[in-house]
Amino acid sequence: MINHLITQKNWQTQLSEAITSVDELLSILELEDLKSTTYFPKHFVLRVPRAFVAKMTVGDGNDPLLRQVLPDEQEQIKVTGYVADPLAENSHNPVKGMLHKYESRVLLTLTSACAIHCRYCFRQHFDYSANMPTATAQADIIDYITANPEINEVILSGGDPLNVTNRRLFAWLEILEAIPQLTIIRLHTRLPIVIPERLDDELIMRLAKSRCQIVMVVHCNHANEIDETTARALNKTRLAGITLLNQTVLLSGINDSTAVQVALSQRLFSAGVLPYYLHVLDKVAGAAHFDSDEHSACTLYWSLLAALPGYLVPKLVRELPNRPFKVPVDIYKSS
Ligand code: SF4
Repeated sequence: MINHLITQKNWQTQLSEAITSVDELLSILELEDLKSTTYFPKHFVLRVPRAFVAKMTVGDGNDPLLRQVLPDEQEQIKVTGYVADPLAENSHNPVKGMLHKYESRVLLTLTSACAIHCRYCFRQHFDYSANMPTATAQADIIDYITANPEINEVILSGGDPLNVTNRRLFAWLEILEAIPQLTIIRLHTRLPIVIPERLDDELIMRLAKSRCQIVMVVHCNHANEIDETTARALNKTRLAGITLLNQTVLLSGINDSTAVQVALSQRLFSAGVLPYYLHVLDKVAGAAHFDSDEHSACTLYWSLLAALPGYLVPKLVRELPNRPFKVPVDIYKSS
């Protein structure tokens, strides 16, 4: 824990003060030697909030949180099968700013911005400029949902939907709550994990009084990401009646062991969050070095079934292009 990086600043200030310099990050962590294996990408640059860096261990080049954010020269290796748009999302947006892949749910990309840049992100090459909802698209989105009565849930995504101001987020909530067929609004966000102050009272009170059920799916890959401040913020959110779930990406050398996954599930539960999905990595260009083979994933999963109560075992899934649901990985092939 790096105490001097822990701060009481509000979330907007913490966002603006995120570290974007590899030199600064390596200097804070006393890891200047790593510079030789680091790469300085022009697109998808380093970005990491100081509160997240505070959870890393000084002097540990293999810190599981550091490895998720430090650009690595391996990202430049072209590997067959790893592509820019692994989920073919660009072919599922009937209206600008909206994806419709799953029957009863649509996803809105509220912003292209994230508080943190995760090196394995499947949307790192996504063309956000062509996919942000404009003022005119808002009306098209409402019309589209209304014309498709099977849609009962809207997923707010991004980027990170909590990266926008409360004012803008609340305006979207009002628009969606006014559509009678919608019963659930879901937020997919990593912000509460990397800047827990984002769960401010104004936000929680607004979510708690929504006409719709609110589900917040956070994204956390390792127990070290949940310190006391993060756990307090998540528990406060749960006590306000918000359903909290977590999705994790299986990352080679970071969280692909039984001990790490067990600790993650237990830590999530103590913070009021239920494990939801354990995703096999989407095959995005530049992230092949994070992938683990399916047999190892299944072996890990069998060990989790033995080690954890069922309610703490996330579903092991893979997302495939043009499938209308997340596909459960067939663990019996490796039993
Ligand atoms: S927070 Fe989510 S969308 Fe943003 S870079 Fe990380 S994985 Fe991608």
